[in-house]
Amino acid sequence: MSKAIRIHAVGGPEVMKWETVPTPEPGPSEALIRHHAVGLNYIDVYFRTGLYKTPLPATLGMEGAGTVLAVGSDVPDLKPGDRIAYAGGSIGAYSTERVLPADRLVKLPDSIDFKTGAAMMLQGMTAQYLLRRTFKVQKGQSILVHAAAGGVGLILCQWAKYLGAHVIGVVSTPEKAELAKANGAEHVIIGHASLAADVKRLTGGAMVPVAYDSVGKDTFSASLDCLAPLGMMVSYGNASGPVPPVDISVLSAKGSLFLTRPTLATYVASHGDLLQAANDLFDVVAAGAVKIQVNQTFPLAEAAAAHIALESRRTTGSTVLLP
Ligand code: NDP
Repeated sequence: MSKAIRIHAVGGPEVMKWETVPTPEPGPSEALIRHHAVGLNYIDVYFRTGLYKTPLPATLGMEGAGTVLAVGSDVPDLKPGDRIAYAGGSIGAYSTERVLPADRLVKLPDSIDFKTGAAMMLQGMTAQYLLRRTFKVQKGQSILVHAAAGGVGLILCQWAKYLGAHVIGVVSTPEKAELAKANGAEHVIIGHASLAADVKRLTGGAMVPVAYDSVGKDTFSASLDCLAPLGMMVSYGNASGPVPPVDISVLSAKGSLFLTRPTLATYVASHGDLLQAANDLFDVVAAGAVKIQVNQTFPLAEAAAAHIALESRRTTGSTVLLP
């Protein structure tokens, strides 16, 4: 038998229950893995509250690191004992053991421990596609990054600086501003009450070619106002709630803007893209350009406390749940 955090109804953190469940058997192209660490992500909150739909009961969680316990008959390149990490695909990571399609697992380099592996895959591969594919950030560009002291945020700040960009971060407190600055943000704005005016001042009137907005409802319009003509609005999250329907004529009025609502699943749908994203991430971490900061850990059984901390904006960097 295994243990897992399951929900039988959507709702607040109290719907998460630590339960005993049968350990699954791997199918022909699957692997059974034991988690040594599980990543906490904001998307876990969306599934728990019902913003993102899933059949119930459900085991939450999209990211983990651990070892392979068994593989199906059609899995040539993994064996029991291999160290692996993964992100995305179906939910179910808040568990001591689970099965996954073997082609969704990435071998974890020996230099990366399980805790770091579980913290970095989802947030790090997200930073990879946002900076290298959704909008290819170039040296010398100024870019806007919301929630700059968060999990994705701290990785974006460091990686963008490594690419030679000037990061303008947005956070909610002076402490988070210090943290974002220590991790590569050149300027940090606290709050978004006068965001466009602040960005105008910081860019000498030029505004930014790209805005990475994971806050959603509260900041969407303000982010659009920060863009230079032909700028790219990347709305990739809903921490404050989903963005209401958009009248697309606003994009022409504000300077022929581009708007995308990307998701990691699309960018790593093929095995090749998954390996490319993971290897890019492993490279910047190995080079020391991006340091993964696990600033909170919780026992997996106490995942509810981790959700409360994340939703009340009390976390910085990445958070890991330990089975
Ligand atoms: P974070 O560590 O960034 O935590 C969320 C942060 O959002 C908070 O710390 C807070 O920072 C900010 N925030 C602003 N408004 C609110 C609010 N009303 N309630 C709570 N938080 C708020 O989380 P993650 O790194 O896990 O994820 C960051 C975002 O990126 C999420 O929106 C997530 O859904 C999205 N995401 C999207 C992916 C994709 O492919 N589309 C993949 C991965 C993540 P502050 O206090 O500084 O404002």
